[in-house]
Amino acid sequence: MESLPKIETDLLIIGSGMAGMSAALFAANRKINTVLSGGAGGFEYSSGLLDLWGMSLTQKGKMSKKPWDMLEKIHYQTPDHPYAKLKEEWLKKAFFELTTSLKSHGLIYTGYNALNVLVMTPFGTLRPTYRLPQTMWSNVEAFKKKEPCLILDFKGLREFSAVFFKEVMKKDWHDLRTQCIEFPDTHLRSEIFTPFIARSLEIEQVQEKFLKQVKPHLRGESYLGLPAILGIHSSEKILNTLEKELDVTVFEIPTSPISVPGIRLKETMMNVLGGSSVTLQTNQRVTKVLKASEKGFECQLGLNINPVIVRSKAVLLATGRFLGKGLYADQKKITESLFNLPVYQPKTRRQWYNHDYFNPEGHKIHQAGIETDMLLRPVGKKRVPVYDNMFAAGSILAHQDWIRSKCGAGLSIGTSFHAIQSYLQIQQRAC
Ligand SMILES: Cc1cc2nc3c(=O)[nH]c(=O)nc-3n(C[C@H](O)[C@H](O)[C@H](O)COP(=O)(O)OP(=O)(O)OC[C@H]3O[C@@H](n4cnc5c(N)ncnc54)[C@H](O)[C@@H]3O)c2cc1C
Repeated sequence: MESLPKIETDLLIIGSGMAGMSAALFAANRKINTVLSGGAGGFEYSSGLLDLWGMSLTQKGKMSKKPWDMLEKIHYQTPDHPYAKLKEEWLKKAFFELTTSLKSHGLIYTGYNALNVLVMTPFGTLRPTYRLPQTMWSNVEAFKKKEPCLILDFKGLREFSAVFFKEVMKKDWHDLRTQCIEFPDTHLRSEIFTPFIARSLEIEQVQEKFLKQVKPHLRGESYLGLPAILGIHSSEKILNTLEKELDVTVFEIPTSPISVPGIRLKETMMNVLGGSSVTLQTNQRVTKVLKASEKGFECQLGLNINPVIVRSKAVLLATGRFLGKGLYADQKKITESLFNLPVYQPKTRRQWYNHDYFNPEGHKIHQAGIETDMLLRPVGKKRVPVYDNMFAAGSILAHQDWIRSKCGAGLSIGTSFHAIQSYLQIQQRAC
């Protein structure tokens, strides 16, 4: 152990999903000496939409267009929810800071200040979200106007079917037409995937061939809808080129995983962190906790390949739930995988799930997780922080069901911003 390379840092962020990456971005903007550890999280699976809150708290099972009104209700309806610990002003600042940083690296997010928008999904349904990539803005507008529209897909593509989309949509939108075309230079492939198409479209010659293939299929439609394929790093530019050359308003439809907008988000966030105060150890998980105390933490990253010891004054835990392995469930109970922190959970396993899978109340297991104080420090039995200098953010937190309430990214962005503010507050107190 002694021989392993060592990194000294102020803050170790464990987990590089939406929560860990957002925390790293906020830490970088405040020049906090940080190490970010962990895999890519759910980015590749995520549609790339930034949800804040999408479900009504007054009408069970209904969507909500007014996320801020719902968040106000959370404070007295579900006071244990992590959102109830956040100031509205900070949550707004968090979204603004994140989207401004993304914009400065070429990824533009848009939306209304007070309202959710309804986005058309690959399943021909509508779902609420708070911020969406600029390349999807006309997706929202097109459904409202329902003017003639051509929806394209590609031979061999698995993640999106224009015909399926139209079949579900046609009851609301009569002027929809579909076409399946061959993406340039893919005639020898039996299968193609959206990330491959998106990376190919970054190349100018491929764009030219693509335009030639699409043009003959347009019959004066107002809109052209495509699965999300408009590049990884220059989606705006590609969108503008297509609109100009084809003389039609183009929009993207988010696809099922693997998702290009999710990859865009992840890679842009990595670019934002380049050259900052954050050292990226994003291919290394924390494999052992060697020391954990008020004085600081010592963690091993990696096992066999280039393991390294990180000594940090503070830790921000953003290791996610069961999929990311931040939480672990055996036959009897749920445990936290790294620090064995107390986990809020139903008393018995029988109570994990509702008998009725679609019960609008949801399942109690989804509320399990780490409880914290107002500074987002994990707490023990008497609600005393387990460590003064440990914070938690994102989906590992208890008393929230982000899938049901459609608040995945918002919860991660808001709690990671709050955790970084709390870290600074504790640092100031120590000085
Ligand atoms: C299919 C899918 C679609 C989604 N769509 C949307 C959407 O449309 N809109 C939206 O707002 N949100 C969406 N989300 C949610 C969002 O992407 C995030 O999953 C959510 O915000 C939770 O993020 P997180 O960082 O807390 O957890 P995760 O994304 O699970 O990330 C936790 C990370 O911690 C890592 N980790 C765990 N243990 C360790 C360790 N010991 N050392 C280092 N790293 C560790 C894990 O490997 C993982 O990478 C979607 C998620 C999924 C899965």
